[in-house]
Amino acid sequence: MAVPRHKHTRSSVGQRRMHIFITPASLTVCSKCKAPVRPHTVCAHCGFYKGKEFVNVLGALTKKDRKLKEKEMQKAEKESKNEKVEVRK
Ligand SMILES: [Zn+2]
Repeated sequence: MAVPRHKHTRSSVGQRRMHIFITPASLTVCSKCKAPVRPHTVCAHCGFYKGKEFVNVLGALTKKDRKLKEKEMQKAEKESKNEKVEVRK
């Protein structure tokens, strides 16, 4: 069995592990629903990527949940349209 040749001090162990950490995920904003999304990834909230629908998010939901989600998405679309109009002025 391999045995360590020398004692590794807390300091040297710490220095070696200095670069071992979890970096926070970089997020962008979905162009359709403005939800935070990882880059180059289909939006989990609305199922859109680059302006096209790739995942039917509403298909897997129950009727009640579907209605709620549709309302939420329409509200988000209205808000995004209002923002665009404000920018043009
Ligand atoms: Zn989205």
